[in-house]
Amino acid sequence: MTSKSKEIKDLIKTAQHYRSMARTFRSSVGVAFQMWDGKAFGGFNMETYGHKGLHAEEVGIVRALAEGYNGTDFRRMVEIFQDAGHNEIEIFPGCFTCWAAMWEWTHPYLEIIVADAEGNSKYSARLKDMVSPAPPVLIYPSNKIREIKPKINFVPKLPLNAELKKLASQDIEFDRYCKILRVKT
Ligand SMILES: [Zn+2]
Repeated sequence: MTSKSKEIKDLIKTAQHYRSMARTFRSSVGVAFQMWDGKAFGGFNMETYGHKGLHAEEVGIVRALAEGYNGTDFRRMVEIFQDAGHNEIEIFPGCFTCWAAMWEWTHPYLEIIVADAEGNSKYSARLKDMVSPAPPVLIYPSNKIREIKPKINFVPKLPLNAELKKLASQDIEFDRYCKILRVKT
């Protein structure tokens, strides 16, 4: 087994573990985000009686942010979703709300891997593939918005990884995003 597939297998196990902790009536979702330094943060969904519920992706992102990680620090996310209403395998790489959250807090080249409840990897794509309308449409927040409304506490914890550096050299908008992230406000 290559070290990459071993890493992903471990990440799937983490997502399974967190899925088992879901606070839910029916559907259980588990995710695991991996940072470029190898650290992983799991998340589970929280369905509620009265308050707005939380999706597993949101919980995982908050846990990573609380440890100081930001933007390009995120490497990949494994997601395990199985609706409790049926047993068919559905490939579910996040919902529109969570894609927006990941666009805001991670980066376009976040790798998304979907596994089934038994832990078999079924699908893989980049966040960018999920949200890529044709030009001139831009997904909010655009780089322009990020530049004129800079956030505090948003500088990544880790140096830009070589793989992302290469992608940034081929993608002007991503390169601009990487530079915005590293401006201390
Ligand atoms: Zn969601």
